[in-house]
Amino acid sequence: MNLEQLEAPIPDGAPHGVWSINTDRLSDGEFAVAGVRVSDIAKEFPTPRYVLDADDARFRARAWKEAMDHAFADLAGAHVYYAGKAFLSKAFARWMYEEGLHIDTASEGELRTALAGGVPGDFCGLHGNNKSRAEIELALEQNVAHIVIDSLAELEFVNRVAEDLKKIAPVYLRLTTGVHAGGHEFIATAHEDQKFGLSVSTRVSHQAIARAAELSNVDLIGLHSHIGSQISATEGFAQAAQVIFAERVWAHEQGIEISEIDLGGGYGIRYTADDDVPPNPREFARILADVVRKHVSESGLPAPLISIEPGRSIVASSTLMLYTVGTVKDVAIDSGLRTYVSVDGGMSDNIRPALYEADYTAAIVSRDSDASRTRARVVGKHCESGDIVVRNVALPSDVKAGDLLAVPATGAYGRAMASNYNMLPRPGVVAVENGTLKELIRSETINDLLSLDQD
Ligand SMILES: *Cc1c(COP(=O)(O)O)cnc(C)c1O
Repeated sequence: MNLEQLEAPIPDGAPHGVWSINTDRLSDGEFAVAGVRVSDIAKEFPTPRYVLDADDARFRARAWKEAMDHAFADLAGAHVYYAGKAFLSKAFARWMYEEGLHIDTASEGELRTALAGGVPGDFCGLHGNNKSRAEIELALEQNVAHIVIDSLAELEFVNRVAEDLKKIAPVYLRLTTGVHAGGHEFIATAHEDQKFGLSVSTRVSHQAIARAAELSNVDLIGLHSHIGSQISATEGFAQAAQVIFAERVWAHEQGIEISEIDLGGGYGIRYTADDDVPPNPREFARILADVVRKHVSESGLPAPLISIEPGRSIVASSTLMLYTVGTVKDVAIDSGLRTYVSVDGGMSDNIRPALYEADYTAAIVSRDSDASRTRARVVGKHCESGDIVVRNVALPSDVKAGDLLAVPATGAYGRAMASNYNMLPRPGVVAVENGTLKELIRSETINDLLSLDQD
């Protein structure tokens, strides 16, 4: 039975189940990913392990690409940049490129990974609020599509580096629109106490636009806005877009033509069955295209090329984190007992619960159980009481050491934010593609960690 259909039947557009589209529960109760039993995966690639359903990630990438191409067909078209910071490996970058996506990078390491995966430089963008000279040089040498400028100082810096290399840097200016969103709400603020971007409300944006037009080694091609992450409401995107378009009109009035607009990422997903179903890519694309169409007809300016930068909404749901259960312990709490289920990883492979109190769900995936459900908390093996993997989940009361336990929707900001806390080697990522296993990133070994030690 397909879990996707069980949990969230969405006939139109991308699926929004909690598990990847090819995760099934077999008739004997064991889970399989793209036809491979989790016990077989764990035999070849021991836990803890990120298991990525390749077809799922490609499907979601394609859903965004098709939705944007369709919605912007009568305008100037659209590019989809996969936000590589969510998860990146050479093969994964290549898959995104094969699906027609560009890749956003935010460091030399991310850019080099995309390039090494076979993504051409001009299909990459470079972000970051504190880029090094080496990063800017690499971006220019590789002819990236654009460098997103985050400050007035950086505008001058990029111009100088480009001059040294006898290049013209294609740049976007990242503007802070005052619109912030996250979870299910968005807020609009006049003053922004955060590190990113050039403020619209204080007119620093105007200063930057005017200065960029003056500089001889930058080519101001676009304006950029990113309002936050894990957003399931559409109003924030529309509101931020309107602020950006007003800046484009202002630039036009100064004789400065801006032909591209990047509306960022942050599209929400479901981590648990309690989360709302977010709009699907087609709905998001249609809403963005409506705002662009209105801007074009009101301003009389030519339609801009639009970009978006989804990360989480492409990769998160593709991946489950596979653990082996160890110690199981009942702890008395006010309202009875809570079963603490320890697994062989934790905050080092998924920091999001500790960092953002992020909620996940979990299931025993190596077998079925008729046992009653118990109130459980899945915890890791680290020396922190905040080392929580899943705060609250109903698990079979016969959960025991040796069971395989999976946490879905761990593809974004899981491996990417992993650490070696407690000298744990970071788990590898194995992809399942039509019944075959392909290792994307191998697990670290303790020898890898010791090899860094220079004693
Ligand atoms: C993090 C980030 C993204 C991707 O965000 P998701 O929530 O993963 O879609 C896109 N653009 C910028 C500038 C970002 O910082």
